[in-house]
Amino acid sequence: TKKQRKELQTVLERKEKKVRRADILSKLAEVQEARLKLPVLAEEQVIMEAVRENPCVVICGETGSGKTTQVPQFLYEAGYASGIIGITEPRRVAAVSMSHRVAKEMNLSTRVVSYQIRYEGNVTSDTKIKFMTDGVLLKEIQKDFLLQRYSVIVIDEAHERSVYTDILIGLLSRIVPLRNKKGMPMKLLVMSATLRVEDFTDNTKLFRIPPPVIKVDARQFPVTIHFNKRTPMEDYTGEVFHKICKIHRMLPPGGILVFLTGQAEVHSLCRRLRKAFPFRKSNEESAFKRHLCHQSLPRIDLDNYSALPVDEGDEDREAGIGDEEDEGSDLEIGDDPNDAEEKADPSIPLYVLPLYSLLAPEQQAKVFRPPPPGTRLCVIATNVAETSLTIPGIKYVVDCGRVKKRFYDRVTGVSSFKVTWTSQASANQRAGRAGRTEPGHCYRLYSSAVFGDFSLFSEAEITRRPVEDLVLQMKDLNIDKVVNFPFPTSPSAEALVAAEQLLVSLGALKEPPRTGRVKDIEQARLSCPITPLGRAMASFPVAPRYAKILALGKQQDCLPYVIAVVAAMTVREIFEDLDRPAGSEDESSKLNQRRARLTQMRRLWAGQGASLLLGDLMVMLGAVGACEFAGCTPKFCEDNGLRYKAMVEIRRLRGQLTNAVNAVCPEVGAFVNPKMTPPTEHQVVCLRQIVLAGLGDHLARRVQGEEILDPKWKNGYKTPLMDEPVFIHPSSALFKTLPEFRAVWSEVPLGLDSVEAEWVPQLLPQYCHFSSPQESPSPWFCSSTGTLRCHRASTFFRVAWQLPAVEM
Ligand code: ADP
Ligand code: MG
Repeated sequence: TKKQRKELQTVLERKEKKVRRADILSKLAEVQEARLKLPVLAEEQVIMEAVRENPCVVICGETGSGKTTQVPQFLYEAGYASGIIGITEPRRVAAVSMSHRVAKEMNLSTRVVSYQIRYEGNVTSDTKIKFMTDGVLLKEIQKDFLLQRYSVIVIDEAHERSVYTDILIGLLSRIVPLRNKKGMPMKLLVMSATLRVEDFTDNTKLFRIPPPVIKVDARQFPVTIHFNKRTPMEDYTGEVFHKICKIHRMLPPGGILVFLTGQAEVHSLCRRLRKAFPFRKSNEESAFKRHLCHQSLPRIDLDNYSALPVDEGDEDREAGIGDEEDEGSDLEIGDDPNDAEEKADPSIPLYVLPLYSLLAPEQQAKVFRPPPPGTRLCVIATNVAETSLTIPGIKYVVDCGRVKKRFYDRVTGVSSFKVTWTSQASANQRAGRAGRTEPGHCYRLYSSAVFGDFSLFSEAEITRRPVEDLVLQMKDLNIDKVVNFPFPTSPSAEALVAAEQLLVSLGALKEPPRTGRVKDIEQARLSCPITPLGRAMASFPVAPRYAKILALGKQQDCLPYVIAVVAAMTVREIFEDLDRPAGSEDESSKLNQRRARLTQMRRLWAGQGASLLLGDLMVMLGAVGACEFAGCTPKFCEDNGLRYKAMVEIRRLRGQLTNAVNAVCPEVGAFVNPKMTPPTEHQVVCLRQIVLAGLGDHLARRVQGEEILDPKWKNGYKTPLMDEPVFIHPSSALFKTLPEFRAVWSEVPLGLDSVEAEWVPQLLPQYCHFSSPQESPSPWFCSSTGTLRCHRASTFFRVAWQLPAVEM
């Protein structure tokens, strides 16, 4: 009957619930058990005692020892959650994944253990533990210098020496004593992986009383290091591939973690490996059985193994035996049936996963889950796996020894990515990832001599990048004398002065007096206060040049375009790289077709007539507009050579910038209409001018005069601050239209906009030398304005480019 059926159903539901609860409990028990094994737990009392007795404490311990996941819990349990316990991470990945992990370990909801990163978060009024990126906390300090909502701030991954982390430590070294003086106690914890903490502790400018350092001993198993005899300079990913094949075919079970430099490399290697070791689901069960059999076989002693080079950086061994086999690289061990059967079962599937910071969180989470039974885990990662995330079950590390770093041209401020050697500290950190659960092995694809040439530590980022955005943020905090700020590592005085000068020429800082005593002028030059324009600029989350563009954007109804352009300029790698080489011949013809189609598409976006003069910015605007009209789908992006994640980020950034603009000038009332109509001709002219006003020091002029005859300078452009010519990239919208008189470049290779000569003296007077009135044609009286006016010729600063005369 109906009634019986209903009863049965409730009984079944109850049973199901019970099973589910038991499941959850057993999972929790598992989590708790793993927790108890973490080395940091042994130091809980020492840490909490130090925190009780000192305002600032430094905790130092190997990656994976449990600092990030456990210390917030110690603080929470010890009653420090009267306010929020805030933890900063230099990487978004870490902030998100750690908040989830801690919520799970504490069995609390994400309403209580939350995260906040640049565009998103799940913070609520109940939040007690908050993971965030360092940039987010810096913004909060601007709103409330005393950080009154927080009871503890934990600065995590301080060894990464990210710029924001460095500044935060500097600021907090002042905020904490201030809070304590005002009777609102606050604690600061600085957590770091490697041992170089002297920059924080032995720095009296920072902490008058050196904070105690608590070292957490990690339970680290020995890792045998194997150097390559030779160092491949070019195809190191090929070398990595062969090494993985060997490990997988010959060595006992255990996960493999591979360090490469970037997303593209990671994907191409994943593809190659999946092809070489197809992973079929139907195989899972039999593979599992084989795996079990294999497990019962005796373990091979790796050090007795001669087919792989066993070279511990010992110079004698470097030229030793066993190396030749490795040098052949294409000696595929699987080809030798005896070899393969004896050492390992080559048919165990390889479970290949990528890991990099822009990867979707669901994809990232996969590396923490156990691999399908009977498979070997192989994670192909970038630097994110070095310290931020610890992947369970790794026994083998393959290190390409390189890292992709953002480099800034000291003169122009233009940034680009380059692959360089990593540091010894980083390489050792990578090796350490192999010894978390049992003794492991690290294969370095470079020689011990090359390792010896690595720098000991990675430099603090602050010493390698331009600092104008930091200087502007600090001025907005009314820290006028930036040179005196207690940086853990100070940027060079020249960098600070250069930043101050750029900000003055952008109008963000008050111009220092030009007359007076030399000493006073010098002083004033280093402590220019912020202007109202500067404050507006500081509230935009973009670099000062772009912030200036935004601040000017409301003219002629250009704001929606300006916002879209700035959003597009600040997001990396929007367009698919058409220059990338094809993997095979088959791929090559397909790629050529795609290239032709995408080039045509970009030409379409660039528009015609006047809009062409906006150059690559018009292409970006066109791409953003077209993408929005199509609903911003992954398919549209894929079909049109746009990076989907970049387009999504541009959309979010447009929303965020619109809010920021509205907060600064509410009278404008900007709103994002995702579907932009193309700008009018009139607006295009305005856009070109607005962009020029922000990027004035990035002006380039096509070579003229005698230099044209020099083949080196053919089609080249001269820039004020460089001796070498710069060229327009073939993929630029201005490459053919080109020979425009001048071009402004923002980011290479795409990022050019053409400029009319007469705009330069009008829009960038601060960069021009004007002729004295005597040299100019006779002045005349203008009756409509009632002023005396004259034409004045001008030249563009250091390069003395002659510019057309303008009416003054
Ligand atoms: P530390 O900050 O000292 O590097 P963590 O607290 O990040 O250490 O990590 C401690 C342990 O917790 C690691 O061994 C790691 O494997 C594990 N762990 C961290 N996050 C997760 C997760 N999302 N899923 C499973 N295990 C995790
Ligand atoms: Mg950590």
